[in-house]
Amino acid sequence: MGTAAKENDKLNLVLFGPPGSGKGTQAAKLVDQYDLLHISTGDLFRYEMGNNTPLGLKAKEYMAKGDLVPDEVTIGMLKNKVVSNPGVKGYIFDGFPRTIPQAEALDTLLSEMGQAVSGLIALEVDDEEIVQRILNRGKSSGRPDDNDEEVIRKRISVYNAETSQVFDHYNKAGKSHKVPGVGSIEDIFEALCTLVDKL
Ligand code: AMP
Repeated sequence: MGTAAKENDKLNLVLFGPPGSGKGTQAAKLVDQYDLLHISTGDLFRYEMGNNTPLGLKAKEYMAKGDLVPDEVTIGMLKNKVVSNPGVKGYIFDGFPRTIPQAEALDTLLSEMGQAVSGLIALEVDDEEIVQRILNRGKSSGRPDDNDEEVIRKRISVYNAETSQVFDHYNKAGKSHKVPGVGSIEDIFEALCTLVDKL
């Protein structure tokens, strides 16, 4: 196998699905299993907000309403995180990309590094179950956007309207997959691993 082929052997996963579908939980397990770097743009924004950085303050106005943070802000932050961690076995992108420009920026960035998205996996959970799960999580997550049903419904409608286009973007390249996001954490994880092992 040549060097170029080895570069492409990196496992770059996009973990997809509506808010509250279990992406964070499953990403943490996948990180352990496949030794990947977990990059959650939501977590990065919350970190910036916690430190009251200009980026955090900017993100806050959008997050509080359940809107997407503008692409240029999000893409810039994501690029910084990727390029400052080049030596990893691969990345799990959680909550990114959420728009077509974000997907295109990710494809370009990875291709500049001789890499590509290996696959996108969408966790499927229906809208009403999502609302209940997030309200429940809100009791302990400390996230204001988890405690307001209107904001939760906004986040779901943003996902359905804009973000699902990202599924189609990778589907065109035969890279999109679906896994039911209901059932036990272990069963969902097993289904994910079966899929990832075939990528
Ligand atoms: P999450 O933790 O993934 O549910 O993200 C929480 C909030 O952060 C979202 O409702 C958005 O306001 C913002 N956010 C996270 N990731 C992105 C992204 N890729 N693009 C735009 N906004 C994002």
